[in-house]
Amino acid sequence: MSGLYIPLDTPDGSRTEHAENLLAPNPSYMTLDGTNTWVIGADEVVVVDPGPDDEAHLLRVRDHLGERRVTEILLTHGHLDHSGGAKRFAELVNAPVRALDPRHRLGEEGLADGDVVTVDGLEIQVYGTPGHSFDSLCFWLPADRAMLTGDTVLGRGTTIIASDGGLADYLRSLDRLRLTAESLAAQALLPGHGPVLPDPIGALDGYIAHRRERLEQIKEARRQGARTPEEIVRIVYADVDRELWPAAEVSVRSQLDYLERL
Ligand SMILES: [Zn+2]
Repeated sequence: MSGLYIPLDTPDGSRTEHAENLLAPNPSYMTLDGTNTWVIGADEVVVVDPGPDDEAHLLRVRDHLGERRVTEILLTHGHLDHSGGAKRFAELVNAPVRALDPRHRLGEEGLADGDVVTVDGLEIQVYGTPGHSFDSLCFWLPADRAMLTGDTVLGRGTTIIASDGGLADYLRSLDRLRLTAESLAAQALLPGHGPVLPDPIGALDGYIAHRRERLEQIKEARRQGARTPEEIVRIVYADVDRELWPAAEVSVRSQLDYLERL
């Protein structure tokens, strides 16, 4: 698409015509290169996910904006790597924080499925996509045909189902995003971590297939006699770095919950 720019070796500076990423310096197994802070607009901007409570990052974003006014700060969800710096950033730029979870708001307004936020004549449409967490939202930017996906879809690998999320919700959210991406002819997914995905349908199909495959692997591990989440992780996630096993265990628990309710 016109204006889609993806640097080769870092998500920092990735952009579409109206959205630009400033990468926070908090890399880890869970956050990949770090948290993507998305700035949307032109003379006035909305900032999505200020990131962790990291003063240097927050100041970098503020300074990068220069004279441009921040009208609102939006959160894709309340996990600290996205929201931890929100209140401090709100102070720095004098803007409200909107989120689904009232605990993360600053100001009167919430944020929920169906809301439309406008900035500088641009629309940002809000999609409720619970699953990774109970309060996950995605933001559709029609002008760029781009969807900001938070941690619902990452730029590399797959995401986890956190203990405040759920697999049944997550699968519904992926299906909804898939349908939406197709009907709106999405041209990019702008994730909460990792690089921009220039093939939304391919990425979502990959996510949906991966979830189905993991569920089958868990069923198979149980047929082999694995009972506890730990035993299942050891079989199903044998090829995955051990540092990720605790997170995998949370995912396995939610998959077991899901299978029990079928
Ligand atoms: Zn995250």
